[in-house]
Amino acid sequence: LRSVASSSKDLPGEFELIARLSAGLRFSRRTILGPGDDCAILRPARNAQLLTIDSMVEGVHFKIGWGTPEQIGERALAVNLSDIAAMGGTPTACVINFGIPKTAKMPFIDRLNRGLRSAARAAQVDIVGGNITSAREFAITIALLGDAGAQVMRRDAARPGDNIFVTGTLGDAALGWRILAHKVRAQSRARSFLVDRYLTPTARLEAGARLARLRPVPAAIDISDGLLQDLSHMLDSSGVGADLDETKVPLSAAYREVARDDLSHALTGGEDYELLFCARTSLPERELSRRLGVRVTRIGAIRRRRGIGLAHMKLPASAGYDQLRG
Ligand SMILES: [Mg+2]
Repeated sequence: LRSVASSSKDLPGEFELIARLSAGLRFSRRTILGPGDDCAILRPARNAQLLTIDSMVEGVHFKIGWGTPEQIGERALAVNLSDIAAMGGTPTACVINFGIPKTAKMPFIDRLNRGLRSAARAAQVDIVGGNITSAREFAITIALLGDAGAQVMRRDAARPGDNIFVTGTLGDAALGWRILAHKVRAQSRARSFLVDRYLTPTARLEAGARLARLRPVPAAIDISDGLLQDLSHMLDSSGVGADLDETKVPLSAAYREVARDDLSHALTGGEDYELLFCARTSLPERELSRRLGVRVTRIGAIRRRRGIGLAHMKLPASAGYDQLRG
């Protein structure tokens, strides 16, 4: 029996907690059996399957108190959704591992879980299983399954002559992070826009799915580690190089207000979760933006010679975020 003195905010046991976190989950037709057994059971899919995994760790990827617990949960799923978007797929089901410190309070976990579940509902993703482990810091690890469309966008498919495009605007999340970390100051409107871009990124699922219908199929990657870093990944896997016009990199009004003409956050700041893609299309930006349902900007072209050439400046010493180098 639990002590009567223990507050209702304290953690219940592992199995009670699992039951609480998965209570009332709803499933689509593809899920035959959700959480509760040794494995979930899913119906066989018609298309090829995409599978990805990502972790968010307190102190590494987020700080408690920077956003609401709901936002932390929402963001944990968004970063995974973004990987499915980058391949042009449709997310379908996920399993979640929660690393929970012994000192954690139940209301925090409930709210975090609420954020996660509402993000899953919005993306029509079934939460089909989970696990809880005791940990020193909060950590949410999600393995996400997705249906590939008729064609998959890979990062090794960039060819000389392709145009290079990005969705949305870049560098906002990096500035949002710097504002939260008190490294940069901003006025209220710019501040809330940039902080929101960091706390609640939008995975470009719809744009990704529509992009994958272009022929030839574009090469694509999502920008999680910074434009130059992620572009390098794509160039390396494709065995090509790129000419980039850094003055074309799309910036938000808030970015310009806070960082002025400093392009470094847009070039090397991560966490925007926009899509970077290379396409042979002759469609103008406007028409592409209309078709993808999001602003699209051409920022350069793929060339045969390896490496990245910028139009008016030298390459920054560090291309962007590296998990193991920090
Ligand atoms: Mg990715």
